[in-house]
Amino acid sequence: IEGKINGLVGESACGKSTLSLSIVKLLPSNGRIADGRILFSGEDLIRKSEDDMREIRGAQISMIFQDPTSSLNPVFRIGSQIGEAIELHRFKDEPKELTKKVVREEVTTILQLLRVPDAERVASHYPHEYSGGMRQRAMIAMAMSCRPKLLIADEPTTNLDVTIQAQVNELILDMVKKLGTTVLLITHDLGIVAEMCDRVAIMYAGKVVECADTSTIFKRSKHPYTEALLSSIPRVDIKHKRLEGIPGRVPSLVDPPPGCRFHPRCRYARAKICTQDPPTVEVEEGHRVACWRYTDVWESD
Ligand code: SF4
Repeated sequence: IEGKINGLVGESACGKSTLSLSIVKLLPSNGRIADGRILFSGEDLIRKSEDDMREIRGAQISMIFQDPTSSLNPVFRIGSQIGEAIELHRFKDEPKELTKKVVREEVTTILQLLRVPDAERVASHYPHEYSGGMRQRAMIAMAMSCRPKLLIADEPTTNLDVTIQAQVNELILDMVKKLGTTVLLITHDLGIVAEMCDRVAIMYAGKVVECADTSTIFKRSKHPYTEALLSSIPRVDIKHKRLEGIPGRVPSLVDPPPGCRFHPRCRYARAKICTQDPPTVEVEEGHRVACWRYTDVWESD
């Protein structure tokens, strides 16, 4: 949803990051988008040329990755790395001298928005002089510096300790509210989803199996995989007898099981029907589930 935080949740290796890299067409060279559409501002990104995509990346769609260390260049000052994106996308037609001053001010403003103390001085530091939390703030500043319409945040706080995680999440929330950015937040942490997201899509083995607003997912989830995910985490609002794991493991995406990809692990699976692809059903307004249990065929099977 535009202007909201949209979560994408699933176990490791279920295809979340591949989906985000597909959106910006940055898949590794051995990957390709076989089918479908990626609609952004009414246009299909799959049809865009590499030159068009270069204009879109950074300026309209930005990304924050898990590991800021590998995304920041160790030999350039943080300020110049943030400024590069601004210069390239927002002031590319302005005279060089004017640009430099404006860009410096913009870098300071964006760092101040992220509550970086003494922003002007800190901008002249190198990445190795920053702590993990500060490096992640620098990444967010780079991603937000061109005021993108869409921010893709791929597990942005996974490598941080819990208190810094909370601070960084709060900063992302604060920033997107102030700038009205739409966010795709990729995570395997349902606690972060509950805290931050307006809407959630649950992904299993490369497919979205359930999609609804956050409170619906937590109160009235329908898909057996979502149900199993929620039973595997401690919750203060429900009295659990004991936490349950999900049996089995995520299937290989090279050779996924036929039909519903969750069927080898699903407690409700029926041999005949569940080995066929389930349709996606709208069980209530805005709540979609890909499972045979919510179709008429299930009753008559
Ligand atoms: Fe389980 Fe069948 Fe629904 Fe898949 S389609 S989640 S196997 S009940």
